[in-house]
Amino acid sequence: MTTETTNGTLPSEAPRPILRAGYQGQPGSFGARAAARCGRPLPYATFGDLVEALRRGDVDAALLPAVESVTGPVLEPLAALAAALADPGAPGLRVTAELSVPIRLVFAVPHGLPAADVEEVLSQAPVLRQCHLLLDRLGARPVETADTAAAAAEVARLGGARAAVCSEEAALAHGLVPLEEDVSDARPNATRFWRVERTERTEATDGAPPPAGGGFPRVLHYRGERIPELLSGTGAELLRVAPGVGFAVVSPKALQAVARELKAAPEETATWLGPRPETATPPRRPALPKATAVREPSVVSVGRFAVGGGKRALIAGPCAVESEEQVMRLAHAVARAGATALRGGVFKPRTSPYAFQGHGLVALRWMKAAGDAVGLPIVTEVMAPAQVEKVAELADVLQIGARNCQNYDLLREAGRAGRAVLLKRGFGTTVEEWLSSAEYLMDAGCADVMLCERGIRTFENSTRGTLDLCGLLAARSLTHLPILADPSHAAGRRDLVVPLSRAAWGAGADGLIVEVHDTPESASCDGPQALLPEDLEALCDDLGLVPRTADSVERVRGAIDVTDREIGRLVTRRLELCRMVAEAKSAAGVPIRDAAREALVKERFARTPGLDEAAAARLADSLIALGLAAEGWREEGEEPAAGCRAS
Ligand code: PEP
Ligand code: MN
Repeated sequence: MTTETTNGTLPSEAPRPILRAGYQGQPGSFGARAAARCGRPLPYATFGDLVEALRRGDVDAALLPAVESVTGPVLEPLAALAAALADPGAPGLRVTAELSVPIRLVFAVPHGLPAADVEEVLSQAPVLRQCHLLLDRLGARPVETADTAAAAAEVARLGGARAAVCSEEAALAHGLVPLEEDVSDARPNATRFWRVERTERTEATDGAPPPAGGGFPRVLHYRGERIPELLSGTGAELLRVAPGVGFAVVSPKALQAVARELKAAPEETATWLGPRPETATPPRRPALPKATAVREPSVVSVGRFAVGGGKRALIAGPCAVESEEQVMRLAHAVARAGATALRGGVFKPRTSPYAFQGHGLVALRWMKAAGDAVGLPIVTEVMAPAQVEKVAELADVLQIGARNCQNYDLLREAGRAGRAVLLKRGFGTTVEEWLSSAEYLMDAGCADVMLCERGIRTFENSTRGTLDLCGLLAARSLTHLPILADPSHAAGRRDLVVPLSRAAWGAGADGLIVEVHDTPESASCDGPQALLPEDLEALCDDLGLVPRTADSVERVRGAIDVTDREIGRLVTRRLELCRMVAEAKSAAGVPIRDAAREALVKERFARTPGLDEAAAARLADSLIALGLAAEGWREEGEEPAAGCRAS
């Protein structure tokens, strides 16, 4: 609890010391970027100096580039780390995080030097190893420097027929002209940096966010010829430094296999730089081990419906199943729009006991037939433990409504039913309590739990509830379970459902559940918040969902029209950006066309999933031609309208 001092001000908290993060190189290098993500960057001239500073305690962490996406293990820093670990008198070291830093290298020259005249290219050794294509093309000699920023400084100082490969930031800081961007042999290029700390620094990760993906990296240091052989079939990533010396990065999947193999190896030949495999990664909330376990995102799948881990879903349908015809009609409408599951209540929780309570199990049979007719799984609410078994016979997903979010008997019963469960958040339930309810479901045996934020009670009374995207995102960082949003019950008003859906989708909700009705004025429940089928179609087009209809040309053409408008907008934006590049390049006196950049654009489109090679090439060619025209470029022999180049 916070206490107030007598003068009414809050006592100041003791300042938390800033982590001193050492790196090899100088400001402007990629190591400096990695270090800045952990604390205050402190430069060291060599990897040996950096590791020594860590051992002495001059820095709290050393950022070592360990694996490069083009060339693999980065030998120099790994060798420095291995040397430090080989010293028996030295303090223990551990790897506490792995950070992926995007590497975009530019080829930069002093003003006025044409690429063809470059004789020497300066950069750090591991970087030069990533740029063979560039060096071969130029026929230039590689010259090693301490780091990429030093290369830019040297080229600026010495001049002559020298160029640097470095970050654009370093090139511009030293007054060089970046002639080509992103010149690594493979793109996108990234380096995985290890944050290495001393083992006795118990508060090393204080205040630092958990590494992306959760958990800590499991790194093993090995010495001995046999270890790589033993680990070769385990799925561990081996980083060889010298014969019989190296490291292994062990994913959670490979952990048990690695631990088994190591039993056959002498103890001193393998050291874990961090927790041993027996130390399981603790859940984010110890009291909720299943719901907050650190693991890859859960995917809930029912037939073609899938949500979580990048798969996104839209559940749509009426609030209540009113008749056999109504649910069949609406099933066709939601499938036509592009929804991936059909919702509908057959047991309705109503504030008034005199209001429509739902048609019960007979309506479930109507809904099942409707779902089957359009190939969509069905989602329906269970309100009491006694309903669960019967409903689970036909429903694909059991919904636990907001009012029952903390009905623990119901949660246990639903969790045992062998069906996926959609758990709405109660309107007075905290994120922690909501996750506790999910824990009940999981503890009862249900692995396929989906969470759903549906609006909480606040002081605001212009809407039915307040869609709590803060809570949804806070839950996102605590649980691996898919999280959906229900803008219909949050807003209680049709006019807000589409914009709220877009907000939740944009915020990264794994899916949405929305209410739809074709005659909302006469709906027996929640008519004012129901979208019309045409609103749902527009929403699906907006979100990029594919209409689920084989026979309506009109519907599919509607989706194409929306896609075309989006393409038009994107092409306009691309041309605007091309013009900006052209202006910057012509100011720097750089040639009009850039074959390397055009090749890169083509390569990018060639990698578009679902586009065949010829189509990708035609698309890239058209965009390049449009870009050149926008920049005022003319065919040879014609005067360029402005000094510019392909973008
Ligand atoms: C519903 O989905 O129809 C419903 C009653 O929702 P909630 O439990 O979120 O109010
Ligand atoms: Mn409703």
